[in-house]
Amino acid sequence: MKYYAGIDIGGTNIKTGIVDELGEIVAEDSIPTGADRPQEVVLQDIIASVRGCVSTAGASLSAAGMGSPGAIDSERGVVIRNYNLGWKDFAIAPAMSEALGVPVTLENDADAAALGEVVAGCAKGAKSAMIITLGTGVGSGYVIDGKIFRGCEFGHMVIVHGGLQCTCGRKGCFEAYCSATGLIRMTREAGITEDDGTVNGKTIFDAAENGNKAAAELIDEYIEYLACGIANLINGLQPEVVGLGGGVAKQGESLLAPLREKLRREVFGGFALPRIVSCTLGYKAGLIGAAMAGKNLAASADR
Ligand SMILES: [Zn+2]
Repeated sequence: MKYYAGIDIGGTNIKTGIVDELGEIVAEDSIPTGADRPQEVVLQDIIASVRGCVSTAGASLSAAGMGSPGAIDSERGVVIRNYNLGWKDFAIAPAMSEALGVPVTLENDADAAALGEVVAGCAKGAKSAMIITLGTGVGSGYVIDGKIFRGCEFGHMVIVHGGLQCTCGRKGCFEAYCSATGLIRMTREAGITEDDGTVNGKTIFDAAENGNKAAAELIDEYIEYLACGIANLINGLQPEVVGLGGGVAKQGESLLAPLREKLRREVFGGFALPRIVSCTLGYKAGLIGAAMAGKNLAASADR
């Protein structure tokens, strides 16, 4: 059995772990990111954490992979810019590679999570899968033939021309409507709140459950936007599986069943609908996927 280190870099925590070649986590750790510190100092913590996992697992590493948010250059293994972490022109993969003595790849965090779901989660064994994360933003990762197709940013595909302002500068992006942030905005605008006046991603679903008709209509509208964006992806890529992750996807079938129904009307011609499912790995997707990206790197180096 071969073993790979996975590192999932987040704004609050960095998760590290050792994953076997089948995608099973055999050791894991989580450390606070401490983003107020210099990037080189954070790197030393990550290296120590990975070494700790290696010793817990009693395994020798074949390769490692990292998943990072922000603008990254995977070819060079450089985080170009990460505003949340304050990282700039950080050649993190080469530095990790030198410290660990194995090849290290750097991927976008949504891409890594998508690969994790394909290896061990909701899209296990699929030839192609699109994983959409409905969180603060809308993340997207496309995996085909077991490999990450780098650089998908379908969150910034426009679904309403001249629509809502998006953080990216365009108007009417998928993300502006379908992120948890977008759903919370719609909920607030409809005057639907929790008892204490706050709104979260679940508020609207709870209200509908309690018989609020306006809430049910708003959910239907939200799912219309979701279907519009996902139909575009299906028409363009025809993935075998579409996996939905993030807080909103926790609604499960009450979200997925009406979504499938709308997609049947939206998807082009006689295209069969892909499997539309919820992601199953949670935070582990990023860890497993990063490690499996390391495995792919090692395999391509062997050829
Ligand atoms: Zn955008």
